[in-house]
Amino acid sequence: MDESKNFIEDIIDADLSSGKVTEVYTRFPPEPNGYLHIGHAKSLCINFGIKAKYGGKCNLRFDDTNPSKEDAEYVESIKSDIRWLGFEWDKLLFASDYFDVMFDCAVKLINKGLAYVSDESAEEIRQRRGTLYEPGIESPDRNRSVEENLKLFYEMRDGVYPDGAKVLRAKIDMASPNLNMRDPVIYRVLHASHHNTGDKWCIYPMYDFAHPIEDAYEGITHSICTLEFEDHRPLYDWVVRECEFPQPLPQQIEFARLNITNTIMSKRYLKKLVDEGKVMGWDDPRMPTLSGIRRRGYPPEAIRDFCERIGVSKANSEVQESYLESCVRENLNRTADRVMVVFDPLKVVLTDYEGSEELSVENNAMAEVQTYRSVPFSKEIYIDRSDFELTPPPKYYRLKPDGYVRLKGAYIIHCDQAVTDDNGNVTELRCSVVPNSKSGEDTCGIKVKGVIQWVDASTCADVTVRKLQSLLTDVKDGVTDFNERFNADSMRIVTAKAERSLLSAKAGDRFQFMRVGYYVLDRDSRDDKLVFNEIVGLRDSFNPAK
Ligand code: ATP
Ligand code: MG
Repeated sequence: MDESKNFIEDIIDADLSSGKVTEVYTRFPPEPNGYLHIGHAKSLCINFGIKAKYGGKCNLRFDDTNPSKEDAEYVESIKSDIRWLGFEWDKLLFASDYFDVMFDCAVKLINKGLAYVSDESAEEIRQRRGTLYEPGIESPDRNRSVEENLKLFYEMRDGVYPDGAKVLRAKIDMASPNLNMRDPVIYRVLHASHHNTGDKWCIYPMYDFAHPIEDAYEGITHSICTLEFEDHRPLYDWVVRECEFPQPLPQQIEFARLNITNTIMSKRYLKKLVDEGKVMGWDDPRMPTLSGIRRRGYPPEAIRDFCERIGVSKANSEVQESYLESCVRENLNRTADRVMVVFDPLKVVLTDYEGSEELSVENNAMAEVQTYRSVPFSKEIYIDRSDFELTPPPKYYRLKPDGYVRLKGAYIIHCDQAVTDDNGNVTELRCSVVPNSKSGEDTCGIKVKGVIQWVDASTCADVTVRKLQSLLTDVKDGVTDFNERFNADSMRIVTAKAERSLLSAKAGDRFQFMRVGYYVLDRDSRDDKLVFNEIVGLRDSFNPAK
């Protein structure tokens, strides 16, 4: 792991050495309105990374103060995705559990003359808010007495008013250069059922009021969020100060969100794809959700490695999709067992070979400890059609008429005859096995440059393979709209012939299909009907200079 510190860790170091904090406490606060995506992985790695580095704590807090769009399915998926990434929270909390605390904070502000009930409509509030160049206009309700405000606020809570009839506003400064400080709304009337609190409440706190209270109440020391909230920080500080939470007050720190080329980072749009049936669900292997990425076969270690390498910064930027792929490839090159799969089979009859045998083939030359599997070999095998040329170009090292090639882990074969149909298409090869050419005990003296994959015809399995691409096409002619960039060809289904050992693979097992790419066994597999998802190709297209 990179030991250099990022700017957030510099702030924490300073707070620890000045004595402002003695223990570091962070939190990850997802809104349970969808599945987590790769962008959330960055936030998770930052928050749980700090917990690990500083021996601190990190809470998982569901930010469920908005009653409308939340769902228990999302809560469960978020928990399982965080654990899959390798993190464990200290406390599991729901912001809606603190509605009473938030209500009490609002009452405290009213008593301090720092909040008032307003009868203005959302439209009137917006119109009076002013602009960056002009101060706002004070609300006609701004100078209501504390007693009247308390009475009206309790009536709001008790259901006296319909939705939108009244709001509670913080009394700060209508001339502030920061628009967020111009008497922001902190409570609204909303007669809606909440998944946690049911019909107990018909008023709900606004995010900018609720979030700092949640942090302060839990004793969070460093509240890390994305840059969009930078302008909200003065309000955050105002809320924790005026609600008189104990020291040390939580400190909001903003970082640049993760953007990746051709990758959708919005739960709202991902939900749209699911709802419209454009994908097989939230965990479709093409989805940039953590569930999708997991089903796609990306190892969690590779995601953490990626987040570490892209670093933490204050400037928004876009990371190339190929960088993530290259982290995944690097991991799989070390960890994935090699197997042989033939996508475009061409039958080869070994005319002089009788019987059958079991060959011992090494699983991964890159592994620290070598393991082997048994691969059957007999008279009829398949090779990939692309590994044979009837009229080869110069320096062609794979199979050609009267040529030699090595079958990986087996023998050198010689092509005696290419059988063709009436149209001249090759339908079958008739070959002979070179004596004494067995891999590992080769004394035949024939040097061959080409090594190709193959499968035994009598024992191989017919498998289904999903070839996958991004859900979005490249930005072209300035078109950035996701709907117009939707890649209708992002999943192609092909069949292939796989060596017998794959029949004992389990869903989630990852392999390198030799000379082709990395693949994972999907949970849609049934007994002898295997389905694989393409994880990533073999070749790296990441260009760090780009
Ligand atoms: P979305 O717009 O996809 O719903 P969000 O920001 O509303 O995302 P939350 O559930 O509120 O999602 O996010 C939980 C945490 O994850 C927040 O702290 C948020 O800042 C962080 N987060 C969300 N998207 C990204 C991203 N692309 N990069 C880094 N952090 C992110
Ligand atoms: Mg959100």
